[in-house]
Amino acid sequence: MSETQMRARAVVDLAALRENVRALRARAPRAELMAVVKADAYGHGAVPCGRAAREAGATWLGTATPQEALALRAAGDRGRLMCWLWAPGDPWREAIEADIDVSVSGLWALREAEAAAVAAGRVARVQLKIDTGLGRNGCQPADWPDLVAAARAAEQRGALKVTGLWSHFACADEPGHPSIQAQLAVFRDSVGHAEARGLDPEVRHMANSPATLTLPESHFDLVRPGIAVYGVSPSAEIGVPGDFGLRPVMTLSASLVSVKRVPGGHGVSYGHKYVTPGETTLALVPLGYADGIPRAASGTGPVLISGKPRTVAGRVAMDQFVVDLGGDDAAVGDEVVLFGPGDRGEPTAEDWARATNTLGYEVVTRISARVPRVYV
Ligand code: PLP
Repeated sequence: MSETQMRARAVVDLAALRENVRALRARAPRAELMAVVKADAYGHGAVPCGRAAREAGATWLGTATPQEALALRAAGDRGRLMCWLWAPGDPWREAIEADIDVSVSGLWALREAEAAAVAAGRVARVQLKIDTGLGRNGCQPADWPDLVAAARAAEQRGALKVTGLWSHFACADEPGHPSIQAQLAVFRDSVGHAEARGLDPEVRHMANSPATLTLPESHFDLVRPGIAVYGVSPSAEIGVPGDFGLRPVMTLSASLVSVKRVPGGHGVSYGHKYVTPGETTLALVPLGYADGIPRAASGTGPVLISGKPRTVAGRVAMDQFVVDLGGDDAAVGDEVVLFGPGDRGEPTAEDWARATNTLGYEVVTRISARVPRVYV
């Protein structure tokens, strides 16, 4: 089936992704780069995006869950790979057997990793996470000496090797936020403490996309960008992707499935939140909240049809929404572009984020599996 025969499609430009990885590497020339491909590469497809990122020089991939990391291994990925979000019952042993770096934030996880390594007859690759101030996962600084001592003892028993020391920023997308320097100071202290007690990691790392783009002192041995790999801005304060030579990777478009003339006073979609102001043409777009189009886009979501900017009329439903074309005509099968790089006049993911009161991260990540991905 050709693209235009599809109801809708998310075109993923892997050449743009490779260029983005190169641009990010140029920002952190002395560091390695881990492309974060969690959540199916922020909705872009973890396997093809992971492969493209590696082609452009990413020496690491990162995921949240071990299942995501194992899926990459099952698809043939063999490079350095790390996952960081563990839940009870998760597959420690399988991850260690697959040579995945496992993140450990506390003693329970260290015990899990050691037990799984012993059972597998392998040396686990373990990265210790410090909570330098984000307040999510990570070892509290007060508990850090105990975790370091336990990890060093486990190393000496031969069950594991501490390959990384790492942390994550809370407010790197707000340049100048006082927590940034405070977190860096805690990180440096914690790393110094661990190294003074015999840990000798391969990599120390903290920098997400905004820190990779704007905070060279946070680059250490490795940068860990996610959203910037996909050419989407981390925040308005950081700037637009083009400021950093980044190009949006995903273009979301659909084909109109109905075009009809209606009289004035015609209620549109559930709740009749939009009523046609006069005789007009209504176009039906076959995408809805089941596809990841936020219901918050009702009456606000921007689209481009035949080169003209339009707005969602009335409520976004589960599978469809309506656009009022006024006096203009259109045909079934005409393309409607929701977002893309912006150079054909189409909205960007950042425009959708503003229109729906969220972040570009959420706009791209929530595009559901019902929308076919087309890789170019
Ligand atoms: N590192 C960790 C631990 C993350 O959870 C994320 C994503 O939230 C990233 C790196 C990448 O962040 P960003 O997409 O802001 O670059």
